[in-house]
Amino acid sequence: MTRLGGDVRIPEIETKVLLSKHTSVKVGGPADLFTVVKNSAELEQAVRRALSEGWRYLILGSGSNVVVGDGGYRGFVIKNISRGLRVLGEKDGGVEIELESGTFLPTAAKKLAGQGLAGLEWGVGIPGTAGGAVVGNAGAYGGVTDETLTEIDGLDPRGEVVTVANEDLRFEYRSSSIKRGELQLPVVLRVRHRLRREEPDAINARIQNFLGERKRKQPVEPSVGSTFKNPPGTHAGILIESLGLKGTRIGGAMVSPKHANYIINTGDASASDVRALVDRVREVVWERARVRLETEIEFKGEWL
Ligand SMILES: Cc1cc2nc3c(=O)[nH]c(=O)nc-3n(C[C@H](O)[C@H](O)[C@H](O)COP(=O)(O)OP(=O)(O)OC[C@H]3O[C@@H](n4cnc5c(N)ncnc54)[C@H](O)[C@@H]3O)c2cc1C
Repeated sequence: MTRLGGDVRIPEIETKVLLSKHTSVKVGGPADLFTVVKNSAELEQAVRRALSEGWRYLILGSGSNVVVGDGGYRGFVIKNISRGLRVLGEKDGGVEIELESGTFLPTAAKKLAGQGLAGLEWGVGIPGTAGGAVVGNAGAYGGVTDETLTEIDGLDPRGEVVTVANEDLRFEYRSSSIKRGELQLPVVLRVRHRLRREEPDAINARIQNFLGERKRKQPVEPSVGSTFKNPPGTHAGILIESLGLKGTRIGGAMVSPKHANYIINTGDASASDVRALVDRVREVVWERARVRLETEIEFKGEWL
């Protein structure tokens, strides 16, 4: 452990850690510096350290919406597993809850359902963290982060804790002011949502439905989930499938035969394979359908 003053410590910083082990699509080269933080105090300190040292840094939740290049990341990668869920109490006709930003959404969704708290059950099939969901305004089955989110705590660029209200996150479809770089917020520490009371059985029934749908439609191979945002008026997957692109391969990356908006790693894909296939699909869709697809996923790090 590295002591940083006061009682807070951050875990040891490792070097040359392969990011393919920390992203859902299982590609990505080494991070120069890497640490895992287990609670928000550690997360705060790790980010403050990066800010004070002037290090380039990247926060990783579950790494389920990012593709890191084969060259890895020149800087400090902070893997956030700060997990925790607290019910804060009744407020304005709802029940306010708080999640540590590294809380896994499916776990939170199930726990909340068990306590009769509805509004986040759509998160049961999303393999990401509460913080990652804020950045990308994650959603599924008609539910979305910005619907119930009231505010978040984060660090500002000077390393001070600040609270940011929903409206200042300027949520859009799969985007926020953080993702677009309009709000300089180096890290999301805690996330608060206002939920509603409902019978646990009713919420759990919806959860079972969502899980069944996932099993039916979603590939089991490593992926980054939906690659492209849905263009106006259609689904990216339907459009890509209609052009006969299911099964298209570059190296070890393939357009999933099960769901055309998923690019899967068939076993030995490199990050460059994945990126080249994303570009190929985008080009074909533009050439043949005159639709410009925008990626939902983010590319990070060094590309060889
Ligand atoms: C099989 C599969 C299914 C999926 N289904 C869906 C779906 O139905 N709907 C949907 O919306 N998404 C879906 N996704 C995509 C992904 O799970 C979500 O976008 C999720 O919210 C990402 O969370 P994460 O913790 O993995 O973020 P990461 O991928 O780790 O990070 C995403 C971005 O957020 C930043 N970030 C993460 N945590 C923090 C933090 N605490 N503070 C500041 N910045 C942070 C990262 O730096 C990065 O820029 C799916 C992905 C997979 C693999």
